[in-house]
Amino acid sequence: MTKQTIRDPKVVIIGAGMTGILLAIELERMGIKDITLLEKKNDLGGTWRENTYPGVACDIPAHMYTYSFAPNPEWSHRFAHGNEIHTYFKRVSDEYRVTPKIHFNEAVTEASYQNGKWTTKTSKGETYISDFLISATGILHHPAKPNIPGLDSFKGKCFHTAEWDHSVPLEGKRIGVIGTGSTAAQVIPEMIKVGKKVSVFQRTPQWIVKVPDTVYTEEDKKKWRKEPNILKRFHKWYTFAVEQTFSKAVIGKKIPHLLMSFLCKRNLRTSIKDPVLRQKLTPNYRVGCKRVIVNSTFYDAIQKPNADLVTEGIERITENGVITKDGKLHELDVLILATGFHPFNFMRPMNLTGENGISIETVWKKKVQAYRSLFIPHFPNFVLMLGPNTPIGNFSVIAMSEVQTKYVLKIIEDWRKGKFDAIDAKEEALQRFAAYLKKGMAGTVWLGGCQSWYLDPDGDPAMWPYTWSRWEKEMKTPDYQDFHLITT
Ligand code: NAP
Repeated sequence: MTKQTIRDPKVVIIGAGMTGILLAIELERMGIKDITLLEKKNDLGGTWRENTYPGVACDIPAHMYTYSFAPNPEWSHRFAHGNEIHTYFKRVSDEYRVTPKIHFNEAVTEASYQNGKWTTKTSKGETYISDFLISATGILHHPAKPNIPGLDSFKGKCFHTAEWDHSVPLEGKRIGVIGTGSTAAQVIPEMIKVGKKVSVFQRTPQWIVKVPDTVYTEEDKKKWRKEPNILKRFHKWYTFAVEQTFSKAVIGKKIPHLLMSFLCKRNLRTSIKDPVLRQKLTPNYRVGCKRVIVNSTFYDAIQKPNADLVTEGIERITENGVITKDGKLHELDVLILATGFHPFNFMRPMNLTGENGISIETVWKKKVQAYRSLFIPHFPNFVLMLGPNTPIGNFSVIAMSEVQTKYVLKIIEDWRKGKFDAIDAKEEALQRFAAYLKKGMAGTVWLGGCQSWYLDPDGDPAMWPYTWSRWEKEMKTPDYQDFHLITT
């Protein structure tokens, strides 16, 4: 092949959630025709398809939580509800002709690399050969069930928030919720509205900041439909505001951290009247160590007469309910596990093998890591979107995917020009990147004396420890010195 020819790669994308849809749109925009999206379920939307629990919403302002090129005048509230977000992704996917490219109900079981090509096999027995394989499976999609003795013996209904059983009646029931994270803070107020009694089993209290959930009127929407540029300005404004406050607070910038701490502490002080309850809800770690919860309903709800905040610790579960360490039985009809996710699974359990048959389990045995969060040495032409150390926190994950997509597109564009046939991150580049991250972690609040899903088994936060602007800047252009450029 002449090196100047523009060639058309075959690209397989795993997952038709927010990131998969975005990639398909952008790849098509650059003229790539052969794009296949493999989706394990019968619908698109990723996390917004999976999470249907009562109260599910995005605690990032809706006008920020959109693709930058597809503002949405229809949001009903400042914090969009889960079903609206799901509808938004379906609409965008249809409008940009992504939906016909999605192969539904086809889970990837294995993928292997050989001589510049990826062979991907699915649960339907299909095989796809591609030049690039991109994992867009998201981060928090493997529910973590607590390892509490007796959990299986519970005779009532029990389910995880991400596997909500809508057939279970809740009206007038005795409901238990284990967990007090971002999910729990949304679901608990809804349970307290309908349940006879709601027992909230809190292991660790959380810092909560209150941001009013403005309702958008028909008038507002009419205006925005006519003038979408207003929404683009909102997008920019919220992005700026969240970076200056939440994002800078967690990486140790003094003033933003003081501000966030003040807002959380004031919220607790002014919202919770009873000093005993307030004490139970007061964390003993720095604001931001666990992801700051943005919520305006939890504190009101937990003070209702039918709410019980249980802090004694769970001893075991019996067929009738939860027994706490003080020996008390909390009788329940329904037990809800708001216990989070396994964040380090990424695209697994699929069987992924790179060059010379090396498996992802072998490469990640010591540590789950990726160069620039995207590339894993020995896995040429494989991209892990939203990989470890993507700057998650309280920022919009859509903005992160957009930055990473541009980076990946530049690499694919150079492949098209014939600059290489395969690209593989160098091991030493990954180690340099890891050391650079480690250096930044010391100043962050994630090591502020708490346990959180941000921490890997070594206790290292799988986060970006510098500013958002720095990340955007460093992600502008791939540094090819950090890669092996292979001609096959
Ligand atoms: P999470 O933050 O990991 O919280 C899990 C909760 O379950 C914690 O309170 C934890 O207690 C508790 N827990 C876990 N195992 C337990 C056990 N064996 N016994 C007692 N308690 C146990 O999970 P999440 O609330 O689902 O949120 C995860 C992430 O999803 C968030 O941080 C956020 O990034 C994302 N999310 C976002 C939104 C949004 O609106 N954008 C909404 C929901 C979730 P400890 O604190 O003691 O570990």
